[in-house]
Amino acid sequence: MDGFSPDILVPEHIKAFSAYIPSKPDDVLKQLYGCTRIHRLNNNENALGPPGTACAAIMGFPAVQGSVYPSGDAYHLRGKLAQRFGMHPDQFLAGNGANEVIGFVIKAFCREGDNIITADKTFAVYEWVAEFSGIEARLTPLVDHGFDVSGMLERIDPRTKILFVCNPNNPTGTWWNRETLCGFLDRVGGSALVVVDEAYREFVEDPDFPDGLALVPRYPNLVVFRTFSKMYGLAGLRIGYLAGSREVVDIIRRTCIVYSVNSLAQVAALAALDDEEHVERTLEMVRRGRSFLHRELNGLGLPVISGEGNFLMVRLPMSDSLAYRKLMTRGVMVRAMTGFRFPNWIRVTISQMEAMEAFVEALSSILAEPAQEQGRP
Ligand SMILES: *Cc1c(COP(=O)(O)O)cnc(C)c1O
Repeated sequence: MDGFSPDILVPEHIKAFSAYIPSKPDDVLKQLYGCTRIHRLNNNENALGPPGTACAAIMGFPAVQGSVYPSGDAYHLRGKLAQRFGMHPDQFLAGNGANEVIGFVIKAFCREGDNIITADKTFAVYEWVAEFSGIEARLTPLVDHGFDVSGMLERIDPRTKILFVCNPNNPTGTWWNRETLCGFLDRVGGSALVVVDEAYREFVEDPDFPDGLALVPRYPNLVVFRTFSKMYGLAGLRIGYLAGSREVVDIIRRTCIVYSVNSLAQVAALAALDDEEHVERTLEMVRRGRSFLHRELNGLGLPVISGEGNFLMVRLPMSDSLAYRKLMTRGVMVRAMTGFRFPNWIRVTISQMEAMEAFVEALSSILAEPAQEQGRP
């Protein structure tokens, strides 16, 4: 074929968009950076792994089931979630990670000319999915590192379809209490959907933290996201879900990809819900890790943003991408935050003590290097 140029076929909003570049596999990274092991502290994974109940379900999964399509609508998982939270199974919709359900909601409710509203420094996928779908993302600056109620409300116009609130927020760990969230929902009224992403809700112990699912009866325009990737340690199997009123979920279901949640993920998630001890052990690990990091980072004189969730942020006196590379050569992988609009900050997953000590040691050593090696003028 002569002179095919895909460019002429590409919509403007795709031309302006660049692909997300995921990190390379450990074996490749070890070669690239010359290190012998890697502590992955970049994705807020649970270092304790999946709960024991889920491990047993994974080990017991019959290989022959690999040839059979999964339940297309995660039937048993939805049944169990419904029972657990006192809702109807049709109020739940599972996806290939909570990441996938973001796309379902946007596709179901938005068309060209519509907009969504979220924060400028939050989980970036809301903004990305909107933009590569040709939908405007209106970004509200954080106030004191938290979502700004009035800033978001001010940006609503007749074409606003969805407001995304990350509670607690990734990456700052800030959160809205029940009063703030309900006040926001009252003021939005029925004019748009409100999505509350509770990816880290299982890490929050404060009784004032709102349970989004419990608010669904009062607010039929509320959609809640949850995931098995963080507390439940199943990030590699890709499973998360949304929940809301039946009317809303029935609409979103029209745009969902059937069979996108594999069978192994479904049985593992089902089993994971039964392991309360795992939640306790994880909370204990995060408490210990956080207080250790606070003490050590304080000692190094570095500003920290640390709220709820299994992560915290640190500001460095050097570029975050340079720090990333230097930490990698020492076997520690963190998240460089320039892409989250936090230049010179890194985000660190709170993990087991061995990894926390390795991180602090690696960080101290790169900070002790002469400044010109840190990329300063
Ligand atoms: C990790 C995360 C998710 C969920 O990711 P999946 O692995 O796709 O379920 C959703 N929202 C936030 C804020 C997250 O940090």
